[in-house]
Amino acid sequence: MWKSVNVLHYILFFTLLGLVRSTVITNDTSDLGTTPFEYIIVGGGTTALAVANRLAVNHSVLVVERGPDLVNDEVINDPFTKFGTPSPCHFQIDLAPQMGFNGSRMIPMTYGSCLGGSSSINTMIGSRPTFAGMSAIEALGNPGWGWNDFLPYMQKSETFHPPNPTQHAEGADFIAVVHGFDGPVGVSFAQPLIAPTLQNAAKNTTNTVFEGEVALSPDMGDGFSGGHYSSYYHHIHFNETLQMDRRSSSAWSYLYPQAQQRERLTVLTGHRVNNVLTSTGAGGNVTATGVLIEPTGGGTTSTFNVSRELVLSAGTIYSPAILQRSGIGNATFLQSIGIKPVLDLPGVGANFQDQILLTNVSFSLTPSANITNVTGGGEVLLAVVVAHPTATDTLGSNGTSAMDKMLRNISAEHALSTNGIVTSETLTTQAALIADTYQIDHPLIEIFYTPGPTGINVWAQSVLPLSRGTIRINTTDPSVDPIADAQYLTTEVDMVVAIAAARRVSSIAVTPPFSDLLIENALAEAGVPQVGATDEEVGQWVLSTYTPGTHPIGSNSMMPRELGGVVSPELLVYGTTNLRIADASVIPLSVFPHTTLGLYGVAEKAAETILQAVAAESEG
Ligand SMILES: Cc1cc2nc3c(=O)[nH]c(=O)nc-3n(C[C@H](O)[C@H](O)[C@H](O)COP(=O)(O)OP(=O)(O)OC[C@H]3O[C@@H](n4cnc5c(N)ncnc54)[C@H](O)[C@@H]3O)c2cc1C
Repeated sequence: MWKSVNVLHYILFFTLLGLVRSTVITNDTSDLGTTPFEYIIVGGGTTALAVANRLAVNHSVLVVERGPDLVNDEVINDPFTKFGTPSPCHFQIDLAPQMGFNGSRMIPMTYGSCLGGSSSINTMIGSRPTFAGMSAIEALGNPGWGWNDFLPYMQKSETFHPPNPTQHAEGADFIAVVHGFDGPVGVSFAQPLIAPTLQNAAKNTTNTVFEGEVALSPDMGDGFSGGHYSSYYHHIHFNETLQMDRRSSSAWSYLYPQAQQRERLTVLTGHRVNNVLTSTGAGGNVTATGVLIEPTGGGTTSTFNVSRELVLSAGTIYSPAILQRSGIGNATFLQSIGIKPVLDLPGVGANFQDQILLTNVSFSLTPSANITNVTGGGEVLLAVVVAHPTATDTLGSNGTSAMDKMLRNISAEHALSTNGIVTSETLTTQAALIADTYQIDHPLIEIFYTPGPTGINVWAQSVLPLSRGTIRINTTDPSVDPIADAQYLTTEVDMVVAIAAARRVSSIAVTPPFSDLLIENALAEAGVPQVGATDEEVGQWVLSTYTPGTHPIGSNSMMPRELGGVVSPELLVYGTTNLRIADASVIPLSVFPHTTLGLYGVAEKAAETILQAVAAESEG
């Protein structure tokens, strides 16, 4: 049997003292026994570990994670590790060919596969969904998911560390009432808050480029409506013993700390869930009875049974694949690949969406720039300053009405033809809700500034894409990745937004005081379109350089079943009695500019809903 040394040491220590009964983390199935678990959670990633933590206070819980436990891996734990440094948690999936300028492009998408999932490798940008965005999710048929209902769950997950006087002087601020102060996930500004000269220059130039329409916000997590820019906080925490910042992954928030030990929680690593096992009742309702698992590298399969509920938390790419392998999905499609349908649910794997990033942008610093004040002298987090301009800020005074017109006249033809939606109303309903969010000033794009050793990255991201793709298996072999097809930029409206974002990046590079930090021909040297470039030229650059937003969502959307929804507002898979989904796949619209802090809210809400079901059962 293998257990992580660090965790084992302090678990042993406290167990001997009789103070703590510990969580078991193992990669050996013989440690698991044969008694059914009350709850089984598929995946040990961002959302999974938060749900497991809450359920295991009073119930037996098994988590099955495909990847390893990397408790001691400094590439993961040190938040200042250079972005993209490989680790045993870093994986890529090759997407289906995506739209490029001259034909299609092959684009890989990165994700995390280890305890903590993608929260163990992400860039820790601490963003939250918006008031307008959560209103759209609620209006899509999800009562109880509006901002006012959802905020307490995000607060429950969080320990927010207000900026210290030095960080405050350098530009960091916050609004106390929207934060939580005793949850598991540490959220802080970096120590020190890097690059004061860059902070000032980026904020001033943003203000100028958007003609004074975007304002300095004390806090990006207040449900902002209206254009803002701000210093950004991250999901990191300061370790007093080590005197350094550490990543607040879900593993380091909900699993490893002493206060989070759960006697009734067993975490099995290095094992893949191939299928959910089910039985079908007299009325046709499906009940999850357990999981079929296999060592990730191949080997003997085994089954584990569940007595209460099964929670699928394998993420946007893999949760729909597991459902499909289990016979839950579009029945005609499943039959076409030789799988006997258990439950006809055409929305499984549809409504898949991701933002796009324009990341191919690094502007060289002029030699006279004070390197430490501009770059922080080495240790940097991605996105020290961020801006969220609205449609009007980005596209001009008619921007909101222009977006409104495009969105309310959208054609569903392409998305229908690629199975990205199951009915044209899915797209027209979502497009109208997106238009509504812009009416109440939802951000159209995000722009963020990151210093590097010799230059500054100014990256832009779409926020609410309308292009819809699919996740579909094409074999019953569970070791083979599903086909992930994001259909990036296949709606005109998404291209309009991407071109507008690119134009603003060009303007930033030539607008003081930010431009004063750069070499004279920074724009041309970076290969970014000139300020006066035509839409065609900018579009060509966008199509040739865009990368995945790495916030894939929607492939098991929470929305009405007739629109292609997969889960109810209680996150229960339609047509099942005890199968829930809690991960990014349930988010139907991309209203989380970055997903993680919102997903902890989803996890807290999911756990509470599940525990309420137990309470109702015992009352009944
Ligand atoms: C490179 C990158 C940068 C990002 N930057 C940010 C950022 O700065 N800020 C932010 O808020 N968000 C960011 N994100 C997004 C965010 O990290 C993800 O949206 C979020 O972590 C997804 O959580 P999840 O619970 O849905 O899935 P995950 O955390 O990905 O967890 C899924 C888990 O399921 C496991 N699994 C999959 N299949 C199986 C199976 N068959 N059996 C058992 N286990 C399985 C996987 O190994 C994985 O551990 C980033 C993501 C990436 C990839």
